[in-house]
Amino acid sequence: MQNYNVIIIGAGPAGMATALYLSRSKQKTLLIEKSTPGGRMLQATEIANFSGVKTDSGMNIALTMFSQIDFNNVHFVQEEVLELTSDDLIKVKTNLNEYTAEKVVIATGFVNKPLNVPNEDTFVGRGISFCALCDAALTKNKNVLMYASTLKSLEEASYIATLANKVYLICNEKLLNFVELKDNMEVLSNAQITSFNGMFKLNSVTIKQDDQIKDINVDFAFIYNGYTPSSKFIKYDGFTDKIGQIIVNENYETKLPNVFAIGDITNRPVKQVGTAVGDGSFVGSILVK
Ligand SMILES: Cc1cc2nc3c(=O)[nH]c(=O)nc-3n(C[C@H](O)[C@H](O)[C@H](O)COP(=O)(O)OP(=O)(O)OC[C@H]3O[C@@H](n4cnc5c(N)ncnc54)[C@H](O)[C@@H]3O)c2cc1C
Repeated sequence: MQNYNVIIIGAGPAGMATALYLSRSKQKTLLIEKSTPGGRMLQATEIANFSGVKTDSGMNIALTMFSQIDFNNVHFVQEEVLELTSDDLIKVKTNLNEYTAEKVVIATGFVNKPLNVPNEDTFVGRGISFCALCDAALTKNKNVLMYASTLKSLEEASYIATLANKVYLICNEKLLNFVELKDNMEVLSNAQITSFNGMFKLNSVTIKQDDQIKDINVDFAFIYNGYTPSSKFIKYDGFTDKIGQIIVNENYETKLPNVFAIGDITNRPVKQVGTAVGDGSFVGSILVK
């Protein structure tokens, strides 16, 4: 079993920021990523609110972050973490290996719950978005459809309506008692999305409404169907909140000694590239000492 001073799980912006600090230190560090480094940024065609980058694709930002890490000092493996247990040392079991570490940083983010509708994957980042804070600015004078499963997402729809030409809304209509709709918002009652359509970019959404099939021309569709935090490899009572986000204090410490969590996987409310990098830099700067 190989032993490390620090193991970082997840190479999204949070994990890569921590790895950058540790790559410039003497700590023997392992960065474990189950997929391509970059995390959810890889789905973003354009990121325009990450300070220092005027505007660029998530892919380019991810490549720059990855290339900044000194891999002479950080060991990188493409493996999926299946279990984390804590004793004197922390044990991390992957699909291929077992490792031990003195300290572990969990930066595994979350996955958006899909609607499982045809062409949904194709248009993510090409018209389909999960984040008004990220993409509302792109909807200026455009037509938008919003699938809103929570009150918070309805509030985000109202915010988008301040910029967009028109916002079509598919939602749990009981929630409508708690928000005031703007004049350019239209509720599509009893409607279900049956497909997303377009060539390179989204240009319409097909819906089934009261047994009728209709195409609605839209440039953007925001899907708020909840999300699943990637934390199922840790099974300690009270480690996560009820939806699976890891509970941290102001120093990103979890309920387990020497186990930190950063970025979108935590119970902190803002989930952005900038906040993920901020969390990762904070923990990285503590761990280099
Ligand atoms: C379409 C889209 C557009 C966006 N636009 C913007 C924007 O404009 N501005 C902005 O600030 N933010 C934007 N975001 C949000 C931003 O991408 C996230 O907030 C950010 O990537 C979170 O970083 P993270 O490192 O915490 O997690 P993630 O980026 O989710 O990275 C987590 C990593 O952990 C890996 N992982 C998960 N489980 C395991 C495991 N068991 N073993 C090993 N590895 C594992 C994953 O494969 C992933 O690479 C956008 C997101 C999407 C989807």
